[in-house]
Amino acid sequence: MVKAGAAVIPPPLLPGDGRFGCGPSKVPARALAALADAAPTLLGTSHRQAPVKQLVARVREGLQELFGPPPGYEVALGNGGSTAFWDLATLCLIRERSQHLVFGEFSAKFAKAAAEAPFLAPPEILESEPGSHPEPRAGADVDAFCLTHNETSTGVSMEIGRPGREDQLVLVDATSAAGGLPLDPAQVDAYYFAPQKCLASEGGLWLALLSPAAIERAQLLESSDRWVPASLSLTTALQSSRLNQTYNTPAVATLFLLAQQLDWLLEQGGLDWAAARCRASSEIVYRWAAEREWARPFVPDPAQRSAVVATVDLDASIPAPRVSAILRQNGVVDTESYRKLERNQLRFGLFPAVEPEDVLQLTRCVDWVVEALRAEQI
Ligand SMILES: *Cc1c(COP(=O)(O)O)cnc(C)c1O
Repeated sequence: MVKAGAAVIPPPLLPGDGRFGCGPSKVPARALAALADAAPTLLGTSHRQAPVKQLVARVREGLQELFGPPPGYEVALGNGGSTAFWDLATLCLIRERSQHLVFGEFSAKFAKAAAEAPFLAPPEILESEPGSHPEPRAGADVDAFCLTHNETSTGVSMEIGRPGREDQLVLVDATSAAGGLPLDPAQVDAYYFAPQKCLASEGGLWLALLSPAAIERAQLLESSDRWVPASLSLTTALQSSRLNQTYNTPAVATLFLLAQQLDWLLEQGGLDWAAARCRASSEIVYRWAAEREWARPFVPDPAQRSAVVATVDLDASIPAPRVSAILRQNGVVDTESYRKLERNQLRFGLFPAVEPEDVLQLTRCVDWVVEALRAEQI
């Protein structure tokens, strides 16, 4: 047992901000200060009036600028987070049969949603061991490929490209990738995410960059005899989004923090800048892990190692939950690995809001804790 006060990391080793979670993740202090300033005329006001509509417009335009998609792509948003978008996609984007790459908790959940839909044929599911990703099967007779840009549960990312024909939609769960990993938007038909990861806001919303083909598919399926509840209708969400509103009431503070982060990312240099920053943060972690005899990157293939979520296995002699607990006592939080993975592992969220310098400090903190544990000083 660690006695209270027994494991105090020397202050010079601590990061300036100790939030390294994978979502909700670090919300910058400057965004919170801006929220406090804006609050009196914004929070507690109607989402059908100009101040909140302007905020939604700022978010939609900011995402267009960040991704720079081909003409005709639109940004839609609604309530319920990425989990709700799986249900929207199941109802409004998969015509008959989808293919899913399953390589962790999140990708498995969308596959399950599609498998349970009584109006769809059983999906084609391609799986790989945690710590890797499967490849799509190009020739498949499916109308949607369901990919995950970054599998947050394992720290595996994949490059996004069209596996098949133009009429086979590419639906990408980018919840922890959007705004932190490079993207060629012409390769996707629905690139969907939530704002509590790279976009440094709170949970509860879904956002999606939609291609003309995806919009057309939704219109077609929703005018067929398939029953689509209004709150899960993509065309309804899109109609509201075009008016810079949401179908039902959104969390206004979440929209505000999201807009702040988008403005900041664009000022700094946009997606290229953000991706380079996350890449730099992750290289600090992977290089450090490779240099320690008691640690190693969990993902064997360097090309599949995520730049936004780094997973590091520890030697069995060093209990990772104990390391995370001591870090937590010192204000360095959410370094625990994904619970269901059941590995002796640390996991770090390295989203754009996180300072690379703080990531370096984080590795110094882990070194200190491990040395202290090995010396049995704590
Ligand atoms: C966090 C996460 C989700 C779930 O997002 P919610 O907004 O909580 O529904 C889905 N997919 C991935 C890849 C995630 O990282």
